[in-house]
Amino acid sequence: MKRPLLDATTDELRDWLGRNGHPPFRARQVNRWVFEGRATSFETMSDLPMDLRRRLDEEWAVFATTLVRHHTSPDGTDKLLLECPDGKRVECVLMAEDDRRTVCVSTQVGCGMGCVFCASGLKGVERNLTTGEILEQVLMARNFLPAEERLTNLVVMGMGESLANLDQLIPALDRVCAPDGLGLGQRRVTVSTVGLPEKMRKLAELDRQYHLAVSLHAPTEALRNELVPVNERVGLSAVMEAADAYFRRSGRQVTFEYVLLRGLNDRPQDASALAGLMDRRKAHVNLIPYNPVAGLPFERPTADAIDRFVRTLRARGVSVTVRKTKGREIDAACGQLRRRFEAGAGVAAPS
Ligand code: SF4
Repeated sequence: MKRPLLDATTDELRDWLGRNGHPPFRARQVNRWVFEGRATSFETMSDLPMDLRRRLDEEWAVFATTLVRHHTSPDGTDKLLLECPDGKRVECVLMAEDDRRTVCVSTQVGCGMGCVFCASGLKGVERNLTTGEILEQVLMARNFLPAEERLTNLVVMGMGESLANLDQLIPALDRVCAPDGLGLGQRRVTVSTVGLPEKMRKLAELDRQYHLAVSLHAPTEALRNELVPVNERVGLSAVMEAADAYFRRSGRQVTFEYVLLRGLNDRPQDASALAGLMDRRKAHVNLIPYNPVAGLPFERPTADAIDRFVRTLRARGVSVTVRKTKGREIDAACGQLRRRFEAGAGVAAPS
């Protein structure tokens, strides 16, 4: 099997080039072709000698994953389903809004956190994605942009618990942000976590400038234990302390994501408890009205309930937004596309 190019560091590629009688600067050219030139094969790397292109092709794969489904929703959101060499499938999304072009990537096949309302966690975690598999999602989605457009933002909010795969994720983000990668500013990267305190502290110590988004979903220990089972192990107060530590170290305001579920966590007392939790914290709350998942018993809150929730938070001085649903028509909640595909339910015609 060919080696995935994006799983190798530039130094590893340089070493390989040296062993094969080629100068180290060729690694820079290869990188430029893949990250800037949108190359998907060595054949098209026209400033490399032909014999090198052939040798590279014998040993390496520019992309080890293959695109098995691509949907564009009416709002222009592209959803991609990729197949890894071992047959596992992951998804990523490309969203366009005003002048922002954002890719959302997955970090694991499945997820071990078990949030009760989430399609990704239904079968648990199968494995971590490699650095190359994370990078390939970014590049494959980016390659759908028109030639004159550039990726402006990256969010790590797809399938999986990002921080459970920190060791593979960080090198991927480093390549995305490197000048010889996509050159994306670290402040344009958002890393989402269900709240693993130890890993949040480790991320803070890396001194990157990523924006941290903590998936809170409930304002009390009891309710969070119910909705986000991993909370029983970690505890809400430890999550909040780790978020505070991230803010202190990075200076970056943390966002708390809160999926609103009808009758469960959208009640006035929940809004009030959430406002209490945010009190004296420089933080932002992003409310996400639930997207129903086939086979799960949760419902989207009414427009009135959402409105009331927002007003309660604002009245208590909390910075709050309601996330606009992107790509709802093509299963925007994480894990839904893959699940439907695997269930053989079929999806709209691939483009
Ligand atoms: S919501 Fe996120 S953390 Fe929770 S099970 Fe789904 S993918 Fe995992």
